[in-house]
Amino acid sequence: MTQSFSTLALSPATLENLARLGYREMTPIQAASLPPALLGKDIIGQAKTGSGKTAAFALALLANLNPRRFAVQSLVLCPTRELADQVTAEVRRLARAEDNIKAVTLSGGVPLRGQTTSLAHGAHVVVGTPGRVLDHLDRGNLQLDALNTLVLDEADRMLDMGFVDDIAKVARQCPPQRQTLLFSATYPEGIAKLAAQFMREPVMVKVEAQH
Ligand code: ADP
Ligand code: MG
Repeated sequence: MTQSFSTLALSPATLENLARLGYREMTPIQAASLPPALLGKDIIGQAKTGSGKTAAFALALLANLNPRRFAVQSLVLCPTRELADQVTAEVRRLARAEDNIKAVTLSGGVPLRGQTTSLAHGAHVVVGTPGRVLDHLDRGNLQLDALNTLVLDEADRMLDMGFVDDIAKVARQCPPQRQTLLFSATYPEGIAKLAAQFMREPVMVKVEAQH
């Protein structure tokens, strides 16, 4: 069964943008996770690679965002620089052009200075790797007091790469009433522990591989 994005509580401008991008029907993980995510629920979403998890959390974080408020309102943690770049690109594609939403990428292995300058110019959305995001927090370059959405993308890979302590430190600096969205291809023990620590009554959404 396919479902159109128009069944969601999204603005006409967002729906037009999705149509323009050629996103006609929701993928199964989007159809399962977006309705509770748009109600403000914490989500643990599990689906294989290539199933459209990025748009599932990007549309939710954009729905929470006030473009007229010049403060970081969404933070997405990713395991690698390449993935962070891909997520930033998808957030920019899905953001409504007229809102002029600024997304900044903070990945390790890249000089700090350019990132610090970008943050100083103001960002609505930050996408980055845990260690580098923590570095900017410690330096006072990044404030999370206006944050309303925290996303842990590819959480299983972040755990495999040893980012659990950095994720915990970042999450502790986020306002407690934020919405937390966790997406992963697999659901190992460590994810359940992470979720128990940092999420509030998460809705579990699992899409089985289709054959
Ligand atoms: P995942 O994070 O689950 O590995 P991605 O979010 O990277 O998957 O999405 C995989 C591809 O599917 C991307 O090229 C993306 O643009 C495309 N895509 C996502 N959602 C839709 C949709 N509803 N309709 C068409 N293409 C989509
Ligand atoms: Mg992904």
